[in-house]
Amino acid sequence: MLPNRIARLEARRSLGQLWTHIWTQLLAQLLALAFPLVLSLAVATAAEEAANIEVVGVSEERAAIIKEHAERVRRIAFEQLLAATDPQPWNEPCLIVVHSTAESFAAAVGVEPVAIRGATSIEFLAHSVSSRQIDVMGDGDETVPDALAHELVHVVLADHFSRLPPPRWADEGMAVLFDSLLKQQRHNADLQHAVKHGQTWSAGDLAALEDYPDSIGRQQVFYGQSAALVRWLIAEQGAATFIRFVDDSSTIGFSAALQDHYGLDAVADLEPAWRQGIPLAELVTTAGSLR
Ligand SMILES: [Zn+2]
Repeated sequence: MLPNRIARLEARRSLGQLWTHIWTQLLAQLLALAFPLVLSLAVATAAEEAANIEVVGVSEERAAIIKEHAERVRRIAFEQLLAATDPQPWNEPCLIVVHSTAESFAAAVGVEPVAIRGATSIEFLAHSVSSRQIDVMGDGDETVPDALAHELVHVVLADHFSRLPPPRWADEGMAVLFDSLLKQQRHNADLQHAVKHGQTWSAGDLAALEDYPDSIGRQQVFYGQSAALVRWLIAEQGAATFIRFVDDSSTIGFSAALQDHYGLDAVADLEPAWRQGIPLAELVTTAGSLR
């Protein structure tokens, strides 16, 4: 059976023909900078971590640091988003390819790393993930590529959403939670600018977006609004309810699932999500807030 392949290179819809989805991200910092308290909660043994991540493209020493970091992010993402405190090892390791030049990144991903810094490719076989790969630019000052944590969240989520891909807003919104605080602040600033100028999507329209908006400006609003909605809903009733809501929204629809799980009306009740917002720092630094 041929595997289904999902390539994610976000914010470049023109490359959508590559396959079903393409995700990317512009920037993210070391997760350690943004999640110091969260990171301290997840310490895996070397033996447990051995098989999940492979890193190529950099020195052995740097690869070891990136691998250790990626393993921590993986465990945190499983725990915080999918309530999996002891996630199953990946039989097919996630290959992280770190690119030192724009040419190398473009050759692998198909687009210059001007506005994007990472891409994820996932293959499925019989509703299980059979291949995982992340391409990231590694030319910054940080040892760990800035886009890594965000992309890794997409990979982790694929384990849960192996039959139906998550709605794009939910997928990106959850990944943004793992971006650096600075990056999240930028997304939120984009959102607040859009709110001020009446340029946000309705919740229903946001949920219905199957692909990234065409323009960079609309993409920025999309990330900001998606992240705000995810933060707000998780703050309402925790990540477990949120994941069940996302699962159901793929089958019974966004509005019906919202009513079922939150008792909220998609038209009348979601404005506070982007007009009031949830403090970014609280979610970044408080592990319990994501539960
Ligand atoms: Zn993404």
